[in-house]
Parts: sequence; structure tokens; C-alpha cells
Amino acid sequence: SGPLDKEQMQGLRGVREFLKVRTSYDVLPLSFRLVVLDNDLLIKKSLNILIQNGIVSAPLWDSRKSSFAGLLTSTDFINVIQYYCQFPDEIGNIDQFRLSSLRDIERAIGVEPLETVSVHPMRPLYEACRRMLKTRARRIPLVDVDGETGREMVVSVITQYRILKFIAVNNEQHTMLLKKPVRDLGLGTYTNLATATMGSSVLDVIHLMVKYNISAVPILDQDNTVLNLFEAVDVIPCIKGGAYDELSATVAEAMSRRSEDFGGIYTCNEDDRLDSIFDTIRKSRVHRLVVVDDDNRLKGIISLSDILKYVLLYGEEDDDIRSG
Ligand code: ADP
Repeated sequence: SGPLDKEQMQGLRGVREFLKVRTSYDVLPLSFRLVVLDNDLLIKKSLNILIQNGIVSAPLWDSRKSSFAGLLTSTDFINVIQYYCQFPDEIGNIDQFRLSSLRDIERAIGVEPLETVSVHPMRPLYEACRRMLKTRARRIPLVDVDGETGREMVVSVITQYRILKFIAVNNEQHTMLLKKPVRDLGLGTYTNLATATMGSSVLDVIHLMVKYNISAVPILDQDNTVLNLFEAVDVIPCIKGGAYDELSATVAEAMSRRSEDFGGIYTCNEDDRLDSIFDTIRKSRVHRLVVVDDDNRLKGIISLSDILKYVLLYGEEDDDIRSG
């Protein structure tokens, strides 16, 4: 191994040390707002609340038990859509479903319920990262216990994006050592890519996301040129107001409904180095990178989990995520 490898390992070790001496609490801004939804709320209403607040997920609260009841994410809405596809006669009842029935919906369509892991905000950030990789969760709730009442409190939720941003902003001293190009690291997925076209229906793309267990599908033209990216969160405005029949609309139509603050998509080249990817994360709201060649043709996709996994686990003795 050359000097580049040595420097790369030094950078990785530095970032890991950094994550061990910081807590999840450190990632939170000084002041923030947290929208928590009551488990008794109608699913239909929860959609409007997410849209009105410009958010894509929220912790759920069981007010009867006074306890944290999991996290509502775009996966739940995709599950409701799958339920609708499997039981189209139920459309009249779907409107009446409450958030507390999400677990029944999972059971009805036969998906494994997502493990709702949480982490204490004062534990090392490294632990939150490991736990996210282990469960494939893209976000993790920070749950504390009130000293007086002994009740659980959801302090906030942190995402893979927030964590990578925190590293990019506060640990540039180590990320700048990560000079190996994406190609050499094998970072991301390059084979068996799920893609769609502008004319594909929203429902087709949702089925792809379920089948591949992914949260975004690149939209290509006939020459494999990347035109856009359809994300799981794009589904939320599609079913606002219970418009499940509109899922036959094209992805082009659905993406035209994106809110004004849509951040755009980010691409990179296989020759780009990991340090420059961290620069992009530092400056922008990146949720994944589409890897393209010089003609903007699709080569691969790098998810935030791919980056987090590499940064945490590469070259570790227990180089797998099962060991927690
Ligand atoms: P994240 O877990 O960060 O939300 P994804 O769910 O999109 O990311 O990706 C999970 C895994 O699937 C990653 O290893 C990623 O490289 C891969 N992946 C992402 N999008 C696609 C796609 N369209 N086709 C094939 N694989 C993909």
C-alpha cells in the first residue's frame, strides 16, 4: 500500500475517533423544532402536517401509554400504497386509517416491521452510526428518559445526512485526507441498477423501490443520460388528499409538483475523490450522488449509507455490520 492508502487510513481513523468523542446531542442545532404526531391521528391528516411543515418524517407518540411509538417515514406511505394495490376494494377504509394502524398494514402486505431503534442523545455519535448501519435505518430518534416522571421523551431525530454534514463541517482536518477516488474505493452500487424513464408511472417506480429496497431511482432517457432522480419522499405529495388513483401519473408529472425548496440532484464522477464528496456534503443538501460519465450517462449511485458504511467500517477488524 502506498502513501495515499496510509493517508486515507489516517483520515478514516481520525473521523472514527471524532465520532467517538462527540455525542448525538452535539449534532443538534442550538434551537430546533420537533413535530411529534399522535398515534391516533388519521394517516391522511399526517400527510398534510408533514407537507405543511416541510418535513418528510416525524416521531409518533402513544398518548395512552405516554410512550414513543416509532417513526413515521415515507416507507410507511409506500406501505399504504402497496396495501391499496393489494386490496383495492379497501380504498374507502384507507381514508379512516390512523397512524396506529400502520403496523396492521405492514402485517397485511407481509413486510417485516422496521425495528424501531433509538439512541440516548448523550451516547457517542459513533454508536448512533453503528446502530443505523446495523438496522439500515436512515434516521434514528434520540430518546431520553425524564428523571422525574420516568417517562420517555423524544428529543429529536438525526439522519445520516445530518451526521455526514456534521463530519464534513467539523472534521475537515480528517476528511481532507480522504484522497482516494470513488473508483478505487468501490464506493456505491454499479451493477443491477434500478432505473426508470420520464414516462414510467409513479406506481412502477414505487414497486422498484420496494423490490430493491432503495429510496431513489434515477430517471434516464433512451441513451442512459441521467435526467432526474425520483425519491421516496416524492411520493408524499402524490397521495395528498387520498389521491391514490393518481399514482398512475408519470414521474415527470409527479416531479413537477416538487416544492420550491427542492435541492436538486447531485452527480459525481468515478474519478472524484472522497474528500470532494465531503466538500459537496458540506456545502449542499445532498441525499445521494448519481455517478455519471463525461456524457452524463449513468454509471452508478452512491447513497449516504454507502459513505457512512465505508467511513465507519472499512479496514476494521470486524469489517461487517452484523457485529453491531
Ligand atoms: P439510503 O440507505 O442511504 O437511503 P438507498 O436506500 O437509496 O440509500 O440505497 C441502499 C443501497 O442500495 C446502497 O448500497 C445503494 O448504493 C444502493 N442503491 C441505491 N439506489 C439504487 C438503485 N437505483 N439501483 C440499485 N441500487 C441502488
